[in-house]
Parts: sequence; structure tokens; C-alpha cells
Amino acid sequence: MNASVLVINCGSSSIKYALIPAAADQPRLAGIAERLGSSDAFLKGIDSRSERFEKALPGADHTRALEAILEHLEGHRPAAVGHRIVHGGERFTRAARLDDEVIAAIEATAALAPLHNPANLEGVAATCKLFPDLPQVAVFDTAFHQSLPPQAFRYALPEALYRDHGIRRYGFHGTSHAYVSERADALSGIEGGWLTAHLGNGCSTCAVWEGRSLDTSMGLTPLEGLVMGTRSGDVDPGLHAHLARQLGWSLERIDEVLNRGSGLLGLSGLTNDMRELEIAASEGHENARLAIEVFCYRIAKSLAALSCALPRLDGIVFTGGIGENSPLVREKVVSHLPHFGLGLDRAVNAQTVRGREGRIDGGHPAAPRLWVIPTDEEGRIAKETRQLLDETTP
Ligand code: ADP
Repeated sequence: MNASVLVINCGSSSIKYALIPAAADQPRLAGIAERLGSSDAFLKGIDSRSERFEKALPGADHTRALEAILEHLEGHRPAAVGHRIVHGGERFTRAARLDDEVIAAIEATAALAPLHNPANLEGVAATCKLFPDLPQVAVFDTAFHQSLPPQAFRYALPEALYRDHGIRRYGFHGTSHAYVSERADALSGIEGGWLTAHLGNGCSTCAVWEGRSLDTSMGLTPLEGLVMGTRSGDVDPGLHAHLARQLGWSLERIDEVLNRGSGLLGLSGLTNDMRELEIAASEGHENARLAIEVFCYRIAKSLAALSCALPRLDGIVFTGGIGENSPLVREKVVSHLPHFGLGLDRAVNAQTVRGREGRIDGGHPAAPRLWVIPTDEEGRIAKETRQLLDETTP
């Protein structure tokens, strides 16, 4: 299929969109509608001349926001719509064309992603209303990790919890890990063994061997694993019972604190924003410094653990807002992995920011590579949408 794809990422009160042209050198139109359902809803984005626009959409719902997005597509008509769907459970190992049966299967998975899947499906419903004739494709965050072997995806819990309730590790950020590992293959000229670190507001690591995910740090929910902006990542599983018994905390409160009051924000007491933390730490803020130290140590620890999944380590890939822009975080992570024999070219590391792709290890032939690769989740969703339609359209 040689035409543009509209990529939609629909949350409960926001819609991110990107119109991805078939040719990589053509401009992308992209933006976000936020605060939907409230009086201060708005749409902002970037047009084909790379100019920014912003428009108030008071009281807009998802359908009204999509109509406004359509007006900003500058007359381009996509050939298909690719939807980011957070959870595909065990059913979806790759993208799927949305029909009644697939929508019902996504609804059935909602218990595993109660905040995300229903919101994603609202976007699907609104888009189907506006574009009844266009093919709509679901691209799942979890699908890339369906190649995990049981030793990586099973928790050591009673078997019935897996069999009857689907309690296992699923992993997330799949489109990002898939994109950057494939890009690392292309840049290195090998089908390699990569440890990928997606470090944004949400953070996760992944072990990829010959294009297949073999282990990842997130689990049943996106709370497992690394320290994140406001999420705790791994804690002692006994913590929940302890907080309930000793402090009388409700499940809702525990959930709220671990998801929204912890991570970089909780440790620093200041912010979840790594840029602000780096400035505060350089000015002597002790808790900002500690937050960065814990964040980096835990990334290194996770990468070392995930290296067990790989027959061979060809390199580490950094991506996401922090992975792409923080030489400090990358240097600290590398410093915690001396046994990997990594090199780091500090000057190149410092320059590889703001969307630059590059190799920062100094190029010693015996050392694992260190890549900084800006992620492109929208481009990957468009690619998977095109691939599926090419295969299934007669
Ligand atoms: P999301 O997961 O919401 O998509 P991003 O991938 O955009 O988030 O990552 C957001 C994080 O990236 C924030 O912590 C932000 O501070 C960090 N970040 C962006 N630019 C820089 C920078 N120049 N230096 C350090 N951190 C940065």
C-alpha cells in the first residue's frame, strides 16, 4: 500500500494523531487534542510547513476532536487508520484488522488494561463513524512481547491464576522496542542481540534477539520494572499488605501512590521531569541527585538481568525522551555495567541529543555497540498497518 496512514492514539481525555505519508521525505502532520470533555479542551499540532497551530475546542468529545483533526489534514485523505491499542492479551501476536470480532476481543481484555483499552476503543468508534469506508487496524503495545518464552512471562504463582485469569507478564512499549531494535539491526548490518531501554515518562527495557522480544521489564501492568516519572517500578510484593496493615491504606490509595506519587517525583519530592532534576541536582538538591542515582542504577540492573535472555550481546539502545536527550543518564547507566566491557565516547555522547541518531561507544570492534535511536512509534504503527493490509487485501 503506497499511501498515507492516519495513526491515532486515543486516551480517556486526549487523542494524539499523526498522518504518516508513504514516502519518508514527505512532511508529517501531527498533533494532540487534550482535556476532551472539559470546557478548556483544545487541539494543537504542526502543519505541512512545520508551523504550529492551536485551537480551542470547548466541550469537545472524541468525535468532535477527530472532526477538528480532519480539518487540519490539509485535504489529505488517508488510505487507512492505524490505532494504538495498549493491551492485546495473549490473543494478538501482531496487528489485526478491526472488525466486530476483534473489537469484542479487545473489550474482553479490558480487565487487564481498564484505563487504556476502553479509551482506545472510543477512538476506534469515533474514527469508524467519520471514516466508515477506510480500513482500520489495531496495533498492540503488547504484541511484540508475545514471543517471550514461559520462563520469562510466568510469575511463580499458583497455575490457576494464569490459566483462569490471565495473570502473567505481558510487557508494553512493544512498538518502540520493535522499532529501535530493527533500526539497530539496519544501522549495524546484523540481526543482533540488543538490550533496548525506552526511557520516557514510562520506562522499560527489553532483550531482543534476531528481531524477537525474549524478555522485558514491564509485566502484568506497566508498573513493573524500572523507576519511572511517577511510577515506583519494582517494589517488594509484600509492600501492599504492609501498607494496608500498618498504615491502614486502602487498595485505591496504594495504587495511586505507586502509579502517580512515586518514581522520580516521589524520590525527589520535586518533579517527574528529568530536565528539571538534572538542573536541581547540579545546584545541590540532594533528593534530586538521589532520584537520578536510583533511576540509573535500576536501569543498569535491569539491563544486566535481561542480558541473561540473549545468546550474545551486540549492544544497548537508548530511546525515549530521557534516553534520547540525557547524556548524563546514559553515562551513569554505562558506568554501572563495567563487566559488559562498554566504551563511551563522552564528546559524541554529549552531542547525540535532540533527535540525533548515533553510535556513542567510540567504535572499538570488540566492544558492544551503544546506540541512541530516536523512537518512532507512529511510523512503526503506520508500517505495521500497511504490512497487514498488503497481506490481507486481495
Ligand atoms: P512520554 O513517555 O510521555 O512519551 P517522553 O518520551 O517525551 O515521555 O519523555 C519525557 C521525559 O524526557 C521527561 O522526563 C523529560 O524531562 C525528559 N527529557 C526531555 N528532554 C530532556 C533533556 N534535554 N534532558 C533530560 N531529560 C529530558
